[in-house]
Amino acid sequence: MSIDFSQEDFETQQPLVTTSLLREDEGEYSLRPKALSDYIGQKKAKENLSVFIEAAKMRGEPLDHVLLHGPPGLGKTTLSGIIANEMGVNIRITSGPAIEKPGDLAALLTNLAENDILFVDEIHRLNRSVEEILYPAMEDFAIDIIIGKGPSANSIRLDLPRFTLIGATTRAGQLSAPLRDRFGVTLRLELYSPEELALIVTRSAGILGVPIEEEGAMEIARRSRGTPRIANRMLRRVRDFAQVKAGGVITRKVADAALTALEVDHLGLDAVDRRMLSSIIRHYGGGPVGLETLAATINEEAITLEDVYEPYLMQMGFLTRTPRGRCVTQRAYEHLGLPVPGGSAGLDQLSL
Ligand code: ADP
Repeated sequence: MSIDFSQEDFETQQPLVTTSLLREDEGEYSLRPKALSDYIGQKKAKENLSVFIEAAKMRGEPLDHVLLHGPPGLGKTTLSGIIANEMGVNIRITSGPAIEKPGDLAALLTNLAENDILFVDEIHRLNRSVEEILYPAMEDFAIDIIIGKGPSANSIRLDLPRFTLIGATTRAGQLSAPLRDRFGVTLRLELYSPEELALIVTRSAGILGVPIEEEGAMEIARRSRGTPRIANRMLRRVRDFAQVKAGGVITRKVADAALTALEVDHLGLDAVDRRMLSSIIRHYGGGPVGLETLAATINEEAITLEDVYEPYLMQMGFLTRTPRGRCVTQRAYEHLGLPVPGGSAGLDQLSL
């Protein structure tokens, strides 16, 4: 059977690669593993965490404050839920930009129960006055509240339950030093290998009740740029096409045809990735070019390029960061089918 999907089949679809949650990700909750043993990959982070969790439980104390960092969609929120489950405590979920005033944070903190977890996503986006409330809260489990105004104002110290703060960020470098120093545990999540992603896709397909062949899972895995959220998103799109056009089962051929129609190439690069690389080559002789300049050239936001696109392009060896800007590698020319200028020697120098 030949499977031929056209771009129009996908016209109503939203982009596969974005930083934020899409409407179709709402079902993500059901795909989230609940126990550490179901959380695939991230071996180092898991090993460390299980020791810390065990020790805290033995002492009957809350877990030390944890900072999780890594690109979006790698499982930071999921891991926090798992930590809460493993510790047997409640978790409250909020995000840096959602906490506007110090009072908002004070209300959240005073409503926690002993040993509870407060999860703050995008913690690098907390505003400074809110952040300052966090320092004594994290260190001494107390906050200072000012009552009254002017000369009669009084500061009183309010004790908090002993809690665990889990902060998640895509950019650890943007955290202020005083905040960063107050986390006892810092874990960096890495991009997943295709084998790990294939396990995630197979697990998700099982939960969604979608028949999938091993090679079909591997095809999706190889093309989901190291990111479980994208793998799950692709699985849903491929499932729709398998149902409508190919008898329901996700085979390698169905996955390939669907993802090719979505302009995701066999290494997982999408149209923006390719535009980014070809623009460095065409307009800047292969680089170096500054991030802002590059973003303006291809009409994308610098922050999106840096957080979402670059980690994978660097992992795949298509792009390097130098003090003077971004450079493409010989591999990028080859992948795009463009002639390598001056042979490989010239390029080696370029990407130094
Ligand atoms: P982040 O908070 O880092 O943006 P999420 O925790 O929201 O990422 O993860 C996105 C989705 O990817 C989750 O719904 C979950 O289904 C899936 N996922 C992430 N990490 C794993 C993992 N290690 N094993 C299985 N599924 C995962």
